Amino acid sequence: MKIVKALKAKSILKYILPVIIVVILFSIWHFQRKIITVTKTRLVLGTVVEITVQGKNRGLLSDAVSAAFLRISEIEKIADRNTVDSEISKLNSLAMLGESKKIPVSRETLEMLNLARGVSESSGGAFDITVAPLVDLWNFKEGGQNRRIPEKGEIRERLKFVDYRNVIIDKSDNSISSDLAGIKLDLGGIAKGYAVDEAVLVLRGFGVESGVVNAGGDMAIIGNKVGGSPWVIGVQDPRDANKLIALLSLEDVSVVTSGDYERYFIHNEKRYHHIIDPNTGYPSNESISVTVIVKNTAKNKAKNTALADALATAIFVLGPEKGLELAESIDSVEVLIVGPSGKTFATKGVIDIIEYLD
Ligand code: FAD
Ligand code: MG
Repeated sequence: MKIVKALKAKSILKYILPVIIVVILFSIWHFQRKIITVTKTRLVLGTVVEITVQGKNRGLLSDAVSAAFLRISEIEKIADRNTVDSEISKLNSLAMLGESKKIPVSRETLEMLNLARGVSESSGGAFDITVAPLVDLWNFKEGGQNRRIPEKGEIRERLKFVDYRNVIIDKSDNSISSDLAGIKLDLGGIAKGYAVDEAVLVLRGFGVESGVVNAGGDMAIIGNKVGGSPWVIGVQDPRDANKLIALLSLEDVSVVTSGDYERYFIHNEKRYHHIIDPNTGYPSNESISVTVIVKNTAKNKAKNTALADALATAIFVLGPEKGLELAESIDSVEVLIVGPSGKTFATKGVIDIIEYLD
């Protein structure tokens, strides 16, 4: 009897199994068919910003992306030193007066200053937003004219104003002050990341659970791709724009690259670029490219692209040895560094997410 029953069950299964498989395949096809990807690109923050989101409601996705771009423009209005009426420009014209006078700042500026302060402290001043007088002297702005190597004396003169400890942040009344006349702030090493974080907050507010915000190499990755696979991001060869050195498989992280190949000039076969060592006043030669990954966790979800942005600049200045040490000391942070000779260095956790390309 038992054998007959088993045979019966087997033959029933024989007929039902193909039906089950067809139903599953149809469901997958039906589910995937409804996934919509919306991508929009704009020129903001002095760079190309691209937002890609996935979901099922095209109208909602499109509204979410437009709102995210609006938020990025708001951050630009606050942090852009290239326009005279931005908050940072106004702040700089006031702060130049010194006198320890308290100047009220917006919540956004205060947040950026606090984040910057943390990275300045942990990097021993390799990241320093008071580097502005040197940035102006070197003038690596897009289309910047009269590029030249400043005199040693000029650099020495401007270095007097470079030290983040001269900015006093008072969180109790949202104000900053400085008693050093001539001090100037530059949020160029952190504001792009901060703007990306704010864009992500807006997208999440619309219910977006899958997407990428990319502001010229400062990226936030929201969730997985719909369907569960990770987003794959290429790391550019710093000496060949058409080549990738590695692929990173990423989900729910921020990933930011700082390199010496976007804003630079070559003089007497030496490269001068926009990441300044606040200690020497000259562009740092300790790295060629630095990619920082900050994983989102329940604890640190808020401003990870800003953190990655500032850390990428800091680690660039520190170079492979000290840079790896700094990255290993911070939870949820990984880094891939291309050192001065082209050799790559990485934190231990990178092995799980990287595929090196030849
Ligand atoms: P990062 O490594 O992230 O940062 C380098 C930048 O940070 C430098 O350009 C300098 O500004 C600053 N910096 C240099 N050394 C240090 C250091 N040791 N510590 C801290 N900071 C340092 N570019 C234009 O050409 N035109 C524009 O109108 C324009 N508008 C912008 C508006 C905003 C709000 C922002 C954030 C950027 C804008 N930019 C603009 C781009 C800007 O000039 C920088 O090129 C860009 O922010 C650098 O980003 P990065 O990822 O290349 O380098
Ligand atoms: Mg940066």
